[in-house]
Amino acid sequence: MKKIQTTCPYCGTGCNIDLHVENNKVKKATPTKGHHVNDGELCLKGLYGWEFIHSPRRLTKPLLRKENNKFSKKGRLVEVSFEEAYDFISSRIKSTVEKYGVDSMMGFSSARCTNEDNYIFQKFFRVLGTNNIDHCARL
Ligand code: SF4
Repeated sequence: MKKIQTTCPYCGTGCNIDLHVENNKVKKATPTKGHHVNDGELCLKGLYGWEFIHSPRRLTKPLLRKENNKFSKKGRLVEVSFEEAYDFISSRIKSTVEKYGVDSMMGFSSARCTNEDNYIFQKFFRVLGTNNIDHCARL
């Protein structure tokens, strides 16, 4: 079984975890011994919260609400290509900014994203022209 050291993504503490991987599947997680943050300790989330990785219920493709093959808030979620999803998102951002101004936009990120993800996220909103950025830890 292969052991892969990584950082727990559940909160900002930064505990290090050894993921035990066999046949490309995570079998269990153990705390990284001697690491300066958690030194062999993990909370329950870090220790047991990994079943989602291989869950068949995970979303792996974009979904869009549609009715009669067009977007509708009351429509059913249907699978679409990434290209269609990105086109839809960018057209909605553009029309919202044109109608209400850039400060009508707000970016809301997640404490479960990596620092790098959050950096790119805030950069994206600042490039759009707004500083309206926050994340779930303040809720
Ligand atoms: S193991 Fe627990 S305390 Fe450590 S980073 Fe993960 S969620 Fe946070």
